[in-house]
Amino acid sequence: AKGRGRNTFHFFDQAMNNRALRRLDIAVALRHAIAQDQLELYYQPKVDTRSGAIVGAEALVRWRRPGEGIIPPGDFIPQAEESDLIVAVGEWVMRRACAQVLSWRQQGFGDIPVAVNLSPRHFQRERDIDRIIALVEEAGIPPSLIEIEVTESTVMRDPDLAIALLWRLRDHGFGIAIDDFGSGYSNLSYLRRLPIRTLKIDRAFVADIDQGKDGAEIVRAIIAMANALGLGLVAEGVETEAQLRFLRDADCAVAQGYYFSRPLPVAEFEPLLRPSEPP
Ligand code: C2E
Ligand code: CA
Ligand code: CA
Ligand code: CA
Repeated sequence: AKGRGRNTFHFFDQAMNNRALRRLDIAVALRHAIAQDQLELYYQPKVDTRSGAIVGAEALVRWRRPGEGIIPPGDFIPQAEESDLIVAVGEWVMRRACAQVLSWRQQGFGDIPVAVNLSPRHFQRERDIDRIIALVEEAGIPPSLIEIEVTESTVMRDPDLAIALLWRLRDHGFGIAIDDFGSGYSNLSYLRRLPIRTLKIDRAFVADIDQGKDGAEIVRAIIAMANALGLGLVAEGVETEAQLRFLRDADCAVAQGYYFSRPLPVAEFEPLLRPSEPP
């Protein structure tokens, strides 16, 4: 039993070691990836629930790793969030999103607002947010075309600083959206202190709409609250026509999800922006 214990311990130790190594490996490789431009943005349309028109897009990062294919953000964002690496990722994403907005303008697609996700860590230092503001100004696009998506956890660690920085962004014209709304320990009193333009209803609630649980009532309540407070609304993770119909009838203006489109590389997203060809 003693021997086995030692083996077990040894095995556990080894596994922890591998995990630490893997994390280090990812961090080193990701730093390299940013420098080598191996990151890519995919775009998922946000759709007007009444007209079906595309009213914007969310930029979602992917990592095209030579020899490994496309790595989804769930496989490297959490590691990046353990260090300042996530700040570098956020800056890369913002720079690329601005260039894309500019390119759509120049190609005659008009102004397509783009949503960018920023991690809580981006709101722990003034200068990181100032760099975001500076790089959008340098890109020469109106900050109102950039919507910054943050989760409720952004204001948990240092609420006063995070709230001040959200206001700074808002004062420069950026839109602010609360992502995954309802999934965290929502503090409705913080909500009133935040300069929010849009609430994004977490897709777990949307998934429950047609499951006969309380999902439909919760979604209805969030929509009523947002409409009463004059906030914009996006329902995330819309996968069925029934969900879309429910949301439209409940007065949710905008929806996003696989029902309309998965996140797409820019070459596949752009055709969605073109008026459809006559038959
Ligand atoms: P998120 O911000 O909540 O993004 C929405 C995620 O839901 C995306 O996953 C999207 O592909 C997925 N999704 C969209 N519609 C549907 C649907 O109808 N059904 C289902 N089941 N899923 C849907 P993705 O692209 O894998 O991103 C996952 C998460 O990674 C994001 O969640 C976000 O938290 C993070 N992330 C992605 N890009 C960035 C980034 O540039 N910066 C940071 N900090 N985080 C990012
Ligand atoms: Ca998001
Ligand atoms: Ca979300
Ligand atoms: Ca999420």
